[in-house]
Amino acid sequence: LKNIAVLTSGGDAPGMNACIRAVIRTGIYHGKNMFGVMQGYQGLIDNNIIPMDARSVSNILHMGGTILKTARCLAFKEEAGMELAFKNLQEKEIDGLVVIGGDGTFTGAKRFGEKYNINVIGVPGTIDNDLSGSDFTLGYDTAINTVIEAIDKIRDTADSHDRLFFIEVMGRDSGCIALRTAVASGAEAVLLPERETSLKELITKLKAGASTKKSSSIVIVSEGNKYGGAYDIAKSVKRKFTHYDTKVTILGHLQRGGSPSGFDRILGSRLGYAAVNALIAGESMQMVGLYGNAIKLTSLEDALNTHNYKLESDLLEMTHVLSI
Ligand code: ATP
Repeated sequence: LKNIAVLTSGGDAPGMNACIRAVIRTGIYHGKNMFGVMQGYQGLIDNNIIPMDARSVSNILHMGGTILKTARCLAFKEEAGMELAFKNLQEKEIDGLVVIGGDGTFTGAKRFGEKYNINVIGVPGTIDNDLSGSDFTLGYDTAINTVIEAIDKIRDTADSHDRLFFIEVMGRDSGCIALRTAVASGAEAVLLPERETSLKELITKLKAGASTKKSSSIVIVSEGNKYGGAYDIAKSVKRKFTHYDTKVTILGHLQRGGSPSGFDRILGSRLGYAAVNALIAGESMQMVGLYGNAIKLTSLEDALNTHNYKLESDLLEMTHVLSI
């Protein structure tokens, strides 16, 4: 293994820069030539692959987003796109690739690594925390902290006006952000893609709170829950429950941004360091993950197997009990 490239793909996540820095510096430490690929798989196809040295990643550890940029690249799903990407890597004699991203990124990496002669290691970089084989994905902790900060502010105004707020958070298939932020912000209820809470149950819970003089209530709505967006749910609930003035906030893309938390800086550094060490050790088609505070390799295939992935359902029960 002589030349290693790194790219970020899919949605950006805080901590990606810490990870890029760790990848580049670990490779250089071991005498490898290091490259950064701009805009994810698009950069592989466009041959936007630039040499990097230890100073190219100075002063980025604390920055949100990704200095390598990221993109959703449809052309990489086609055989012709993949072939062009491989040709560009071959030209630069790049034989190791670190991909930082989510499930789509790993699906692409798996296909690419199976078809072409290149060693591929994945780093779970997504705020959704929806990959198996890592207790936490990069960016998830920062996103949670960002959401909690926003909910705290909403709680102040909700409480002053005796209001019910529906707050929509990211998570089309994964309720991880919703569930953890519900616990940390003392939300009255949470609606998740993975678990069904009927609107009837929700209204009963809100009524119980109102009857014991709760001055405000907050319901966290994960994007992918079965009742639709926060506006739709608020409308349905308002028809049957009029105790509070009802408001809706959709947090949206602010959840992706911001300086990474201490946890994500450390996680990004550990995963980037481990990814390069895995490549040097001859590994390929694996994801590096954090499992019970140890770094562990999981095959890309298992990482993508969402059946292995478990929502922390004990937290759901706890939210219900602690918000009476
Ligand atoms: P996030 O979880 O933050 O959305 P992601 O990695 O899942 O991140 P996607 O947009 O789903 O984000 O995937 C990123 C890129 O991976 C796609 O734009 C595409 O280039 C590549 N990709 C996804 N699926 C495939 C596939 N089946 N074959 C080849 N490449 C793929």
